[in-house]
Amino acid sequence: RFISLEGGEGVGKSTQATRLAEALRDRGVDAIVTREPGGSEGAEAIRDLLMQGSVTRWSAHTEALLFAAARADHVEKHIRPAVEAGEWVICDRFIDSTRAYQGAQGIDDSAILALHAFGSKGLLPDRTFLLEVPQAEGAERATARDGAGADRFAAREGSFHEAVGAAFDRIADAEPDRVHRIDATGSPQQVTARLIDALSDLLP
Ligand code: C5P
Repeated sequence: RFISLEGGEGVGKSTQATRLAEALRDRGVDAIVTREPGGSEGAEAIRDLLMQGSVTRWSAHTEALLFAAARADHVEKHIRPAVEAGEWVICDRFIDSTRAYQGAQGIDDSAILALHAFGSKGLLPDRTFLLEVPQAEGAERATARDGAGADRFAAREGSFHEAVGAAFDRIADAEPDRVHRIDATGSPQQVTARLIDALSDLLP
């Protein structure tokens, strides 16, 4: 199985990816965690290119191409082989992050999906969890984690994050079978329990 975790900054995606994999292993499921951008040697090299430099280093179009290229490498080298070997792959961000973040910068959803079709044969997760916390709380958590901005993406304004949130909402509304909204407030334990609950139909 292939599961992705999505949402804005500071909603706890990476914490929950690790916790979810542990909870699955406790249930006898072979689960691994990976992340985007990155997750394979080539994709991590592209991640470094993306993260460094000023806010204006890459245009929105170039950025969309780099994310698609990183994802293509990650899917081919890491995700597909693991899923085919019977593992559960828990991915911290996937195609929906590009649809939300690069979409919020004016890149057409259809263009992003076309790049995904070419680069990654259109691979979609079996289930995607959209982790939701009130926006102010997420921003607070992200600032507490990153301090004065660990990478150039942290420099974006509040209105940008609102546009990202709206894009995630549209995806969840359009694809309710794949994309499940998860309340990400409360303790990490509570959130993991909600995720496991929302996977019960896929568990062996
Ligand atoms: O998941 P994480 O917070 O480490 O993501 C790194 C940064 O990359 C985020 O700040 C996000 O704004 C940005 N990003 C993006 N487009 C994507 C995926 C991530 O702009 N497709």
